[in-house]
Amino acid sequence: MAIYNNRKLKDLLADIPEIPEKHTRKKKRPKELAFVDEPNCTGCEVCIPFCPVDCIEVEPAENWPDRPIPPVRIRYDECIGCVICVRVCTKLAWDAIVMRPTEELEEELGIVIGDKFTG
Ligand code: SF4
Ligand code: SF4
Repeated sequence: MAIYNNRKLKDLLADIPEIPEKHTRKKKRPKELAFVDEPNCTGCEVCIPFCPVDCIEVEPAENWPDRPIPPVRIRYDECIGCVICVRVCTKLAWDAIVMRPTEELEEELGIVIGDKFTG
């Protein structure tokens, strides 16, 4: 017996964002940033191509010597807070990305997020 009938599968896929054809850059400081719950991330990389500013990357393997596949991380200064990666991870993979207030992450990580990506 199929797990999904066609209608359920269609509904599921309808909610998934499209992979951007080309990447853009941040124009304004977002109120929230994507945050990867690293122990919960499988490192499947499904979210990476969906990010419109291409700011999700795989962590260096040496940072996670006890794991065969390292998790991904966000380059916070480039994130535009679009929530796409959260939706993609929830729908297609797991539940390993959440949105967090920019100010909270700045304080916690000792970073400053501006209107433009300066890197
Ligand atoms: S889709 Fe989710 S589980 Fe997969 S790499 Fe991205 S954050 Fe991790
Ligand atoms: S919130 Fe948008 S810009 Fe930020 S990491 Fe996720 S997909 Fe990329």
